[in-house]
Amino acid sequence: MKITERDACTGCGACAQACPFRAIVFREDEEGFPVPEVQEDKCKNCGMCRKVCPAVNPPQTHAIQKAYAAQLRDRDALGESTSGGLLTAFAREVFRKGGAVYGCVWDEKYTAVFRRAENEEELKGMRGSKYVSSWTGNAYKDAEADLEAGKTVLFTGMPCQVAGLKNVLKKDYPGLITMAFLCGGAPSPLAFRAYLKTISGKVPLKELDFRFRDKREHGAGVHITYQGAHKRVCETYISNPYYFSFYTKVILRLSCYHCPYRYRDRQEDITVGDFWGVEKHHPEMDVRAGVSALLVNTQKGADLLGKVRDALELTETRPEDIAGENNLTLTDEKKIYRIPAIRKGFFETLKSQGWKAAEHRYLYNPTRFKLWAKEKMPRKMLVLLKKYLR
Ligand SMILES: Cc1cc2nc3c(=O)[nH]c(=O)nc-3n(C[C@H](O)[C@H](O)[C@H](O)COP(=O)(O)OP(=O)(O)OC[C@H]3O[C@@H](n4cnc5c(N)ncnc54)[C@H](O)[C@@H]3O)c2cc1C
Repeated sequence: MKITERDACTGCGACAQACPFRAIVFREDEEGFPVPEVQEDKCKNCGMCRKVCPAVNPPQTHAIQKAYAAQLRDRDALGESTSGGLLTAFAREVFRKGGAVYGCVWDEKYTAVFRRAENEEELKGMRGSKYVSSWTGNAYKDAEADLEAGKTVLFTGMPCQVAGLKNVLKKDYPGLITMAFLCGGAPSPLAFRAYLKTISGKVPLKELDFRFRDKREHGAGVHITYQGAHKRVCETYISNPYYFSFYTKVILRLSCYHCPYRYRDRQEDITVGDFWGVEKHHPEMDVRAGVSALLVNTQKGADLLGKVRDALELTETRPEDIAGENNLTLTDEKKIYRIPAIRKGFFETLKSQGWKAAEHRYLYNPTRFKLWAKEKMPRKMLVLLKKYLR
């Protein structure tokens, strides 16, 4: 049984979780992305996998109702969050009602996996973006069991994962709230593991304390930090080769290049994202501490926001201001990402020779040099260099 085209599958896991015969297992493809494999001896051709596949049956969408710049008032939790710490604000309200939150954490091997939280302690690991394709495991079915038991559930994740959940649930539960982020794409777990190997040689994984968006030294922005052999390393999105390969969209899943969830019509109740350029539109906000873009798309989302308002600094804004510097997310037109010409060669070299070889051959490129020069060189020197090169 073929579920969907290979380049349309997002790896959300809905088919495996919904299959009544447990006939679908996920395996990594040659680029390290989880893909479904139907075990023909167990499959009864019931068609459930195609019914729940969001690539075959996309969920219903809503127009954005309101847009905000938002920031959690609790400074400690905000410091641990990627931008404005909105997960914490919403999750606390769900815990207050005795509900459960589903989100993504690192396991002990730095694999991004879904977990369930029902208190502040279990929530901690969910804070912060893990820029790698994550695995939903049994999260949709577990969430369904919570909903059937009458609990409130906040399900957070990539938009394709929220779509997977919605299709697996057979009805719209009043207790369910979905929150997705504006997603620039899901990078390859194989690439992340290979990169991690290069930095964890002398430091055991459990002591690595790897953080993609560490605010502690320089405030909100993109600072990647980890424990090196002799000192703590802090790199920018340009100097860190893994983040740079994500930023320039070299290592994304094939389905991400034509992702249907990046546009203004949203299927989740609440959307969160980075508010890049917020200082131009809302200079009154404390940008250094991190500000999120927040979109409220349904009445359920508006009701939840109403309950957590006091926990947030909140300013109404326009979706177009959020979209302004958010590289191809939240666009009006159905723009697709171009697959970078180096993507194929990068993965081939990664598979055959490892991260370092792929990095040296493909990631020391003119784009990176230009970004690096812009970041590091004083303006005058940059102008002189440009003149000289001409
Ligand atoms: C792969 C990826 C690509 C992204 N691309 C963009 C982008 O292009 N533009 C943009 O504005 N924002 C993007 N984001 C979202 C952004 O990084 C922040 O998550 C968002 O601004 C919310 O910040 P916060 O402080 O409110 O969330 P926090 O309070 O820090 O919570 C983080 C939330 O993200 C979830 N999460 C983290 N990693 C993953 C993962 N791998 N899979 C599923 N869920 C995860 C957690 O469960 C949690 O709900 C991306 C995030 C990821 C993981």
